[in-house]
Amino acid sequence: MAKKWVYLFREGDASMRDLLGGKGAGVAEMTRTGVPVPPGFTITTEACNAYYESDKQFPEGMWDQVLVALKEVEKQTGKNFGDPSNPLLVSVRSGAKFSMPGMMDTVLNLGLNQSTREGLAKLTDNPRFAADAYRRFIQLFGKIVLGVEGDRFEHLMEVAKGHGERLDTDLSAEELLAIAEQFKQVIKDDVGIEFPEEPLDQLRAAIGAVFSSWNGRRAIDYRRINKIADNLGTAVNVQSMVFGNMGDDSATGVAFTRSPSTGEAEIFGEYLVNAQGEDVVAGVRTPQPISKLKDTMPEVYEQFHTIAKQLEAHYKDVQDVEFTIERGKLWMLQTRNGKRTAASALKIAVDLVREGVIDKATAVQRIEPHTLDQLLHPMIDPAARVTATVLTTGLPASPGAASGTAVFDPDEAEHMAAEGHKVILIRVETAPEDFHGMVAAQAILTARGGMTSHAAVVARGMGKPCVAGAGDLRVSYADQSVSVGEQKIAKGDWVTLDGSTGEVFVGKMPTVEPELSGDFAEFIAWADEFRTLGVRANADIPRDAKVARAFGAEGIGLCRTEHMFFEGDRIDAVREMILADTLEDRRAALAKIEPLQQGDFEGLFREMAGLPVTIRTLDPPLHEFLPHEDHEIEALAAKLGVEFAKVKSRVENLREANPMLGFRGCRLGIIYPEITEMQANAIFKAAVAVKAEGVDVHPEVMIPLVSNITELKIQEELVRKVAAEVFAAAGVEIPYLVGTMIELPRAALTADEIAQTAEFFSFGTNDLTQTTLGLSRDDAGRFLPAYVEKKLMPDDPFQSIDQRGVGQLVQIGTERGRSTRPNLKVGICGEHGGDPASVEFFHRAGLSYVSCSPYRVPIARLAAAQAALGDGKRDK
Ligand code: PEP
Ligand code: MG
Repeated sequence: MAKKWVYLFREGDASMRDLLGGKGAGVAEMTRTGVPVPPGFTITTEACNAYYESDKQFPEGMWDQVLVALKEVEKQTGKNFGDPSNPLLVSVRSGAKFSMPGMMDTVLNLGLNQSTREGLAKLTDNPRFAADAYRRFIQLFGKIVLGVEGDRFEHLMEVAKGHGERLDTDLSAEELLAIAEQFKQVIKDDVGIEFPEEPLDQLRAAIGAVFSSWNGRRAIDYRRINKIADNLGTAVNVQSMVFGNMGDDSATGVAFTRSPSTGEAEIFGEYLVNAQGEDVVAGVRTPQPISKLKDTMPEVYEQFHTIAKQLEAHYKDVQDVEFTIERGKLWMLQTRNGKRTAASALKIAVDLVREGVIDKATAVQRIEPHTLDQLLHPMIDPAARVTATVLTTGLPASPGAASGTAVFDPDEAEHMAAEGHKVILIRVETAPEDFHGMVAAQAILTARGGMTSHAAVVARGMGKPCVAGAGDLRVSYADQSVSVGEQKIAKGDWVTLDGSTGEVFVGKMPTVEPELSGDFAEFIAWADEFRTLGVRANADIPRDAKVARAFGAEGIGLCRTEHMFFEGDRIDAVREMILADTLEDRRAALAKIEPLQQGDFEGLFREMAGLPVTIRTLDPPLHEFLPHEDHEIEALAAKLGVEFAKVKSRVENLREANPMLGFRGCRLGIIYPEITEMQANAIFKAAVAVKAEGVDVHPEVMIPLVSNITELKIQEELVRKVAAEVFAAAGVEIPYLVGTMIELPRAALTADEIAQTAEFFSFGTNDLTQTTLGLSRDDAGRFLPAYVEKKLMPDDPFQSIDQRGVGQLVQIGTERGRSTRPNLKVGICGEHGGDPASVEFFHRAGLSYVSCSPYRVPIARLAAAQAALGDGKRDK
């Protein structure tokens, strides 16, 4: 017997997402639980994959199974496909395992031709409705299945509507039929074929088109951005049509069982009377809020409300549903877990725990850690609002604030962003083909469309601010400008959007930092109940330390001391030290730096009272601090009272061919011990001073770029000698640790030796990645994106740890280190410390903590909790 490629809705259930796709599994589950769903069937994702394997031929037996399933649907509906006396019409939709909005639009009303259209007109006694359905079908089929440019049809519609003088609902049956004929002519001109009259031919072509859309550009782009595997395939759902455009007792709509924007526990959605599915999302007319339905069709609303809540309880999560009301009867077309903003996700998760629907562990696992980033984004500074010029207000479609220069074209947005510009993409409305421009933009503004428009849905998915449906915007693509009344914004002008309020401002506005409070604070505290991995922050100055602490950092995992070298005029003393010829001169310069460093460290110790603070000794190549242009060198020479030529030659001497592998890290402190000595003095004197204020201090001194135990020993002895002197002079003893960064492969491999001296390790995975892959941190940008795109690497290894290679060194280093010193504290302080997938890996590798930038601390806390809950196996 041939493989089963086709499942009736009643044969499936929610667990079959892999095979039936999200949509197919959703309608199957609804059917199973007795929700009114128009009958239909799903062609499996396996059929899609088989289609590609056999050179775009339907797999054996599939079409026959489609015909059998179609017969069954005919039986269930009492209608027949292609039968003019009672025609069955179907919709054909894609539906992959993971929702991919806009991958392939839906083909509606399939099965219509001249005779079934006439039959439908007679049957419904509504020739206009039949004509409209026919016109829509040809348009959608032409665009989606036959690949005709959608604008060709839109243009003809616009002409017929007198360019905004009339609505689509104003067109008569005759006019619609005339338009349908024009559409067919467009197809003939463009594709060179007659529009297919035979419904089975239509169905066959539409199924093929859905399969093919899996490898369309939009789908590939979407998968790349969202890290969805290419080999999942899409299912095809063929479902009997119900009509929302049969008159004023019919409607179609979309709704969320709670607000996808704020999480508020109220049904939230929009509908359009006398309209078909795509009208709501395409922004053809502005939809009504769902609350209106309560007034106009109270019974239907009641039933809808009950079903929506039933679905939410069934799935234990917010549902995003599509529905149609056909002559007063409610049909549910789709349900899926609703995409939502991070703010909404958080509120919903917290509310569901409070309502007793889910437990804390489930709530913690529900939220993708990286989406918290949205809550950690700056908002418009309230003070700046007072004097701001509001251009207009649209719908608050996706929260957060952003400024950028106006662009009107997605390709241009992509291009400008690649050159480092911040842009705001402004469109009348967005379509799936604009996706790449939306990815590139800081935020998106549209003149048309509701809260569930393409722009809104996609922006929320990406966590980008979006203001949609700002109806009084006049967008001119020809002129590359947008205006409201007299006010005009041209390409390149700055605008600021607040996606939380829907406001659009003229110009660039300052923003303020977010806070961790309310539901967010509570939720993150739950995460802490599960995680075992510590989370620290990389912070160099007291201000960063304060943010880090507010976000829950349990210490500083890395203070890069050199980051303070550029502060104010202290760079002069640093340069003096670097350029000094003699030990004496160098010591004189260091003496100027020491009190400044001490002050910095005191600030950190105070801010992190009671928590460990890891301070790293000087690391970068010295030439980074020197001027390179002649006029700068001249100015420095004058300041130091030294000849230009002398400074110039010293700068030249310090130049290295490959500084990242050169005179840097602990090598500096070995050749110039007085530098380490000065820094150790600053650290311990700061510790003594702050301790004297009654604050608990826990200094941890960290030696960078060590490759062998002897290097570490030399530096460690020096640090301990200074500590002893400082403590003796002050008459106090403060416990402290001396440890090392592990950022060279040799250090990881000889970790058992290194741990004889090191009291802690911190993996510097930035350098460890660079040195393990032989990939320069500074130059990889030229080709690395292409590597990732070509899938030579699953991710940028500087963002997400290369688990097989670099990760293995982390595992080896940890194991070997602990073989010598069983309770060795092991952390990581490279960029990977804030990357959820890497955090999960570090949890499994048994590390003690991760350290990341302050704003990523909550993300790391959540990722660590999920890792501990064993949720590392998401198969995206
Ligand atoms: C590292 O190499 O991972 C690290 C944290 O140090 P830096 O980025 O300062 O070289
Ligand atoms: Mg490093």
